[in-house]
Amino acid sequence: MLLDTNALQQVVALRHNAVEFLHPAHGKNTVLCSVPYQMLSTLIEIAQAYEPYVLYDALATCNWQQLNNLSSFPQKPYSLSRLKIAIDPGHFAHNLSTAILEKKYLRIRDSIGHEYTLYEAALTEQIAVILQDMLQREGAEVMLTRQPGLSTLGITAEEWVQGNWKQALDESVRKGWLEKAESEKYGSYTDERKIIRDVFRTYEMHKRAEKINSFAPHLVVSIHLNVDEKNVPDKDGFHTLHKRNYSMVFVPGAYATEELKFPLDRLAFLRQWLGQQVPLSVRAAIVFQRFITDSLVVPAVASPITNELTYLLKFSRLHNQSNPGVYHRNLFLLRQVRYPVILVEPFLQDNEQEFFQLLQKDSYYITISGDTLNTSRRILQTARTYFHAIQAWIKE
Ligand SMILES: [Zn+2]
Repeated sequence: MLLDTNALQQVVALRHNAVEFLHPAHGKNTVLCSVPYQMLSTLIEIAQAYEPYVLYDALATCNWQQLNNLSSFPQKPYSLSRLKIAIDPGHFAHNLSTAILEKKYLRIRDSIGHEYTLYEAALTEQIAVILQDMLQREGAEVMLTRQPGLSTLGITAEEWVQGNWKQALDESVRKGWLEKAESEKYGSYTDERKIIRDVFRTYEMHKRAEKINSFAPHLVVSIHLNVDEKNVPDKDGFHTLHKRNYSMVFVPGAYATEELKFPLDRLAFLRQWLGQQVPLSVRAAIVFQRFITDSLVVPAVASPITNELTYLLKFSRLHNQSNPGVYHRNLFLLRQVRYPVILVEPFLQDNEQEFFQLLQKDSYYITISGDTLNTSRRILQTARTYFHAIQAWIKE
């Protein structure tokens, strides 16, 4: 097969802003960031060395006109009252047992045997609801990808499994999210927990991305709270608190070679490489990281911690040395969403101080409709910090 030089020229013509350099290989995992078009031929050589026709396939199946359209984003507005923003409260659990299934929870036992639990989905939705309210007061148009206590499908994971969930498999095959053979395998599942873990989780993420893309926002903020990578439960099922704390903000634009296996992934790579999504996401990420460092007083992750975290070392790339904490990474939402998007990890929930602060219901927030939300001071502070970051990003 030969590369179509005409198509190649169009790629070059489309690429106005060279953003990133080709990242050196981490072992076998070459992280391919957005590259200057001058390096296209080198990239093709490298891509072919690892996986023949990776790029060729993407180029050959690409709809140039469509790519061009996708790369033109609605201009960032000058005032919050003209802002269209999607806020994505991370994860979907509505109780501890689903959170355990999602592996997004903390269970702690103190020195006198008292037990405490937290789960991430309940915290991210509190931040999201308060942030939404703060933005709406300024006239912004805000879309939450899910409502508190529910998944993006408007029901809980358990309710979904009770219903006609096999329809989702057909839809997934139709939309290229799932291969036929996989869908048949999942179709034979009867264990509710396995269905939630293997089918619902991915399907729900696709639906989040779909919702965001049809909303066409100026910015997407995905809200998460991190835990230390190595903090896995002990034999009795308890986590351990510690004193470390760090923050980071993820943006799209980095792909490992093995993450370019499927045509849709390759297209996403090409779209991000050619369009403005990556540089626009980076601009927002830098502002968010600055506010987290200054207002929440959590430092951006840096060496030597960086070198201990597998997901940073193997699957992420620091944007540049002058902006610690801002990482390119191929997370599901960052790949599927076509608009400027950031995924924010402001602190570690399993940091001793953060954990007990998150347990406290020591603050109130009264919404525009008069509802009183009883929450942790730290949650309120986080929502307020994001609000101020969005304000600063608008003014920038
Ligand atoms: Zn998370």
